[in-house]
Amino acid sequence: MYAVKANPSPDLIRTLWDSGITTYDVASIAEVRLVRGLLPAATLCFMHPVKPAEAIAEAYHVHGVRTFSLDSVDEVEKIVAATVTNGRPAADLTLCVRLRVSSAHAKLSLAAKFGVGVDEAAPVLHAARQAADALGIAFHVGSQAMSPQAYGDAMALVRAAIVKAGVTIDVVDVGGGFPSVYPGMETAPLERYFAVIHRAFEDLPVSYSAELWCEPGRALSAEYASILVRVEKRRDDVLFINDGAYGALFDAAHIDWRFPVELVRVNASATKKLPFSFYGPTCDDMDFMRGPFMLPADVQVGDYIEIGMLGAYGCAMRTTFNGFGNGDTVVATDEPMASTYVVTEPSREVVTSIREARS
Ligand SMILES: *Cc1c(COP(=O)(O)O)cnc(C)c1O
Repeated sequence: MYAVKANPSPDLIRTLWDSGITTYDVASIAEVRLVRGLLPAATLCFMHPVKPAEAIAEAYHVHGVRTFSLDSVDEVEKIVAATVTNGRPAADLTLCVRLRVSSAHAKLSLAAKFGVGVDEAAPVLHAARQAADALGIAFHVGSQAMSPQAYGDAMALVRAAIVKAGVTIDVVDVGGGFPSVYPGMETAPLERYFAVIHRAFEDLPVSYSAELWCEPGRALSAEYASILVRVEKRRDDVLFINDGAYGALFDAAHIDWRFPVELVRVNASATKKLPFSFYGPTCDDMDFMRGPFMLPADVQVGDYIEIGMLGAYGCAMRTTFNGFGNGDTVVATDEPMASTYVVTEPSREVVTSIREARS
């Protein structure tokens, strides 16, 4: 499934649907309504472990959502109560228990807030098993997992939780966290991640017909968007640009994330590239992006810069703080500035077979 949080652009969601993605991970009632409005036939999974009762009820009764995640017995009870139909408990629920796993290999942690620990998981799994038609275990290794080992380690915890609880598991959901490509972040090809996951899945004590799910956000959306910013002032090696920490560049400001950059000029600059930092447009000192962003030495006021790979957690996080953030959106069909999906020899076959299947 596609994790809508990473980028809820309707155009992207339709593009993914047209590319064969039929299932969507939604985390709020607004995301449920958005995707249902765009894609009446999509399968929606409500994968936020803590949901308002009225959101569960609307998702189930109005929008046909049948899959919910949770990490406590309280949440099982909440889901059961909110989905009662004609005085009877729902008989068609898929409940995924979110397990707490390490974020040690990830650039962005998702380890502290959600998930039940392996040692406390048995009562939650038992309560969910009682209420569910299908029972799943889900986890999230953190976003931009830099090593396939993250999934191997998490699957070992899944195994321990299943053995401890002695329940039948129908779904194993390995979550998101699949990496995209950014300057200075070298990762193994996705195939290596999939190999580790498949090997671990084969070894799990789950039902013969158990399904393996994942819910990537970043890996499916990072390449989808760039922003084009203008240089408003230059102070030595710092450029004042018109987007920043409160706009599409939250991660560049707050966790020093580096994105690819390119000077956009009719005639390319012939000067050599130097490292630059950026200030965003608001009046806050915090609106600063260390970089380094490599740009030609003669970059100047009035120049435009393309900042790429902002399809995930970039455009989705813009605010209008301080009166900024009202950009124009333009649809372009050029290649992304970088891609996880470079066609290496093993995956060339996959790409070819997908093309053949489509045609
Ligand atoms: C954020 C999130 C995702 C997507 O994570 P990526 O790192 O973007 O792949 C998937 N599932 C859940 C529950 C999430 O919170």
